[in-house]
Amino acid sequence: MATLDPLRIGISACLLGEAVRYDGGHKRDAYLVDILGPLVDWVPTCPEMDLGLGTPREPIRLVRRDVGPNGLRLQASNTTVDLTRRMYNYARRQVKVLARSNLDGYILKEGSPSCGMARVRIWNNAGRPVGNGRGMFAEALMSALPDLPIEDEARLQNPRRREHFIDRMLAYQQLRKLFLEYWTVGGLAAFHAAHELMLMAYSPSAYRALGRLVASGASCGRRTLAKQYESAFMTAVSKMASCRRHAIVLTRIAGHFESQLSGNKRLELTSLIDEYRRGLVPRTAPLSLICYHVKQLKVTYLSGQAYLNRSPAAVQMCWRQL
Ligand code: SF4
Repeated sequence: MATLDPLRIGISACLLGEAVRYDGGHKRDAYLVDILGPLVDWVPTCPEMDLGLGTPREPIRLVRRDVGPNGLRLQASNTTVDLTRRMYNYARRQVKVLARSNLDGYILKEGSPSCGMARVRIWNNAGRPVGNGRGMFAEALMSALPDLPIEDEARLQNPRRREHFIDRMLAYQQLRKLFLEYWTVGGLAAFHAAHELMLMAYSPSAYRALGRLVASGASCGRRTLAKQYESAFMTAVSKMASCRRHAIVLTRIAGHFESQLSGNKRLELTSLIDEYRRGLVPRTAPLSLICYHVKQLKVTYLSGQAYLNRSPAAVQMCWRQL
């Protein structure tokens, strides 16, 4: 199996315990800091501190007006000082820096008018809530880097979403590495073959469509091919697959070697896959057992499959909860 580098993850700085919030505090997330922290490389950013607002500072909020991107303004809650243009210009510059930072994913702070990726409260001029939207920095980040896996810490409370986020980051890391160096169509075909099982879990139709794209070679130009493949691949894995779909793939994997297992071991594996399908254990449980058998039995085809290749961070992120 290919060696995986530690995941490099951008993050809202307050989630790491940095005292950068408007009230001088932080929003340290114990799970991210204590469980994931030792296994990944963080790239923290606090847009409001980078704007020079300091701490403590007046809280800010999104206000719906009839001008600005989507009619939204970012303004100080009490003095109504308008920070829209400053944040807009900063975010555009900062996402260019982040685009060059080799990130594999990004974790944003839920609900923040700067960092929130969804469900951020929007107010009207009279100070009444009028809906939900996306923080201004998050909007710039998600528009500029549409393929980058992004989540917020609240959504990551869900263990299945964590598994999904890890799948996306690992795939993105491998894609990024492939296209960063000199690559050939043959190398891309090998990447596609190594991700067969992952794509079959997320979208069998996308697996076939991407295969046709690779088979067409670089007739559209290498840069276009790389862009199209990356975009279509990350779109294919962007929607969480059901446990049932993953269980089908796990059963198919087991079919490659289960005839070599004793009755008890076969039963142990099929039971674990079934427990996963019923939501009783994380996917890491049957995956870990499968990886063990694949290694013991030296199943060559499977040992090259990215679906089975889990970094330590991936395993921890899926298993451990505080
Ligand atoms: S949510 Fe974003 S802007 Fe607000 S304190 Fe955290 S990192 Fe800074």
